[in-house]
Amino acid sequence: MGSSQPLIFRKGLDMKEAVAGELAAAYDSAVVDRVRAGDFRHEAGRLTVHLAREFGFCYGVDRAVDYAYQARRRFPGRNVFLTGEIIHNPHVNDQLKAAGIRFLSDPDERRDALGADDVVILPAFGVTVSDMERLSNLGCTLVDTTCGSVLNVWKNVVRYAQDGFTAVIHGKVKHEETRATASQALKYPGGRYLIVLDRGEAAIVCNYIRTGEGRDQILQRFAGAVSPAFDPERDLARIGCANQTTMLMSESLEIGEMFRDAMRERYGEADLAHRFRAFDTICSATQERQDAVIALLDEQPLDLMVVVGGYNSSNTCNLARICADRVRTYHIADPSCLVSRDEVRHRPVGAPSTTSGPEAVTRGWLSATGPIVVGLTAGASTPNNIVGEVIRKLEGFTSSLQP
Ligand code: SF4
Repeated sequence: MGSSQPLIFRKGLDMKEAVAGELAAAYDSAVVDRVRAGDFRHEAGRLTVHLAREFGFCYGVDRAVDYAYQARRRFPGRNVFLTGEIIHNPHVNDQLKAAGIRFLSDPDERRDALGADDVVILPAFGVTVSDMERLSNLGCTLVDTTCGSVLNVWKNVVRYAQDGFTAVIHGKVKHEETRATASQALKYPGGRYLIVLDRGEAAIVCNYIRTGEGRDQILQRFAGAVSPAFDPERDLARIGCANQTTMLMSESLEIGEMFRDAMRERYGEADLAHRFRAFDTICSATQERQDAVIALLDEQPLDLMVVVGGYNSSNTCNLARICADRVRTYHIADPSCLVSRDEVRHRPVGAPSTTSGPEAVTRGWLSATGPIVVGLTAGASTPNNIVGEVIRKLEGFTSSLQP
């Protein structure tokens, strides 16, 4: 065990070129490159696939995965750990395990046994302030891959706390990023937060702001989603909105407006600037993927949509929500979910986003004859090789050789 000062890498580890081949072999796809070059359209027999113009790995995930491989190379002979999943994609996490990186979230690993010789990679969605302190105190070498867009949210939340505003965070209370963001609010003694999942929860809080009624309901409903000793009367008098970077942008904006209206009604327009703040903290990669899938749905008549990504991936679940409003949609974790032309396993849209499902099985999802047009997109944590395998499977199921 060591107590030396931690070494924190927040930029690359000078091994970028050394790992470039390894990354390309693990995650690139010639099929996807061809579809991209063909104006995001792929035809094979009776199958047409339209790929969204923005999909898959975002800049934050790209960087986090790159740093993880660099860390493995840079520190040969030392234990290299991840605090948990680097991103919400089972394939990528399995590949990292295969490359020799251990996961502190695994039951047989012990965080309290870490020391100065150990290297710990912090994921793209960041860690809580207390986890960061604990790891620093242990003297581990830290490779911090926290995405710049997440850091931007933290900056706003810290400023809210400094200025006496409670951070109202649109996010999932159990998501690592939201837990880390909420912890930033507590850096200052008077810092407070409240996390709302959706419009429904926002409406409950807004009603309290307007009327001052339902204090107990708020405390009960949001137990576990508020800062310690949360007092609705005191802590909802000045609020600043923020969000998990991967939420549905339209919903985040709507929730911001709901809170603005409620504060205006309660305190009047003249006082609004002293009591309400908002910043758009949806990351640009999430926004681009959501915009691209909306454009695809607007431009192409589709028979169905396939959305690829981990079932606990927030941004993937939100892409599926957008699609399901418009066309028959299957959110699949990976190509193995496409069992046959008759059978697909998928996460029902709107189900809780957890790794373990629940998973539904649908039969007769691909027609046996005639042209079929499939829209395809993938969440920010899905590598191209997975997308390429999905295209290959679709081709196989619709080929003339298929019985
Ligand atoms: S989804 Fe956005 S915030 Fe999250 S890692 Fe990607 S770019 Fe960063």
